[in-house]
Amino acid sequence: MRRPLVAGNWKMNGSKESIKALLDGIKAGMGDVKEAEVAVCVPAIYIAEVESQLTGSPIMWGAQNLSNEASGAFTGEISAAMINDFNCAYVAVGHSERRTLFGEDDAMVAKKFAAARASGLKPIFCIGETLEEREQGITNDVVARQIDAVVELEGIEALADSVVAYEPVWAIGTGKTASPEQAQEVHAFIRQRIAEKSADVAEKVQILYGGSMNAGNAAELLSMADIDGGLIGGASLKAEDFLTICRAAG
Ligand code: PEP
Repeated sequence: MRRPLVAGNWKMNGSKESIKALLDGIKAGMGDVKEAEVAVCVPAIYIAEVESQLTGSPIMWGAQNLSNEASGAFTGEISAAMINDFNCAYVAVGHSERRTLFGEDDAMVAKKFAAARASGLKPIFCIGETLEEREQGITNDVVARQIDAVVELEGIEALADSVVAYEPVWAIGTGKTASPEQAQEVHAFIRQRIAEKSADVAEKVQILYGGSMNAGNAAELLSMADIDGGLIGGASLKAEDFLTICRAAG
């Protein structure tokens, strides 16, 4: 039985002050979150602060990106080991904003996925099609290609201790959500694709939906058979909205 996971992606938002208020709000409401695992992926510069505020709480924390390199002359980069030093459970890998704005291709995403796992971090491995790709009818081909890049480098078993996040690019930060049926169709395809290599891994892996999930639409999306939780951008910046989604995931 897969446990649902709701992970916030704060993107490049927040300040010391606003983060404290947000985390205080989420911590105060966690008593009603019975089933779901909860995590927040925060800007790297605030990870230490978040660690000190969340240690001892049921909420896990993580980073939004990492270097594919282990250490050395890579000015401005942050390694998996550094992220791990602050007891992060997760790191997002291959978020569509990284792919489109920072030129990360499938091969780079696979290397980052490998670097995360080598350090004991759980990758939240983001995949999804653009609007153009959906309109061309190649959504399944795109997500299959993205999954295969990681599986070819790391093997299918690597997905057993990772999280997959299906995030249609056209739904991220746009207010346009995939319908529960549209999302379920792709989630089922992803699980099937993994099952072709390992039924056991397919059964275990949590597949999250991301793309304008909010307090109003979460329950319906999360009721679908292959949607095991959410990766939440905008709505994770408001404690009450985020908590509503966490409760719906129960
Ligand atoms: C995201 O950043 O992964 C995301 C899903 O954003 P939003 O919820 O704002 O669409």
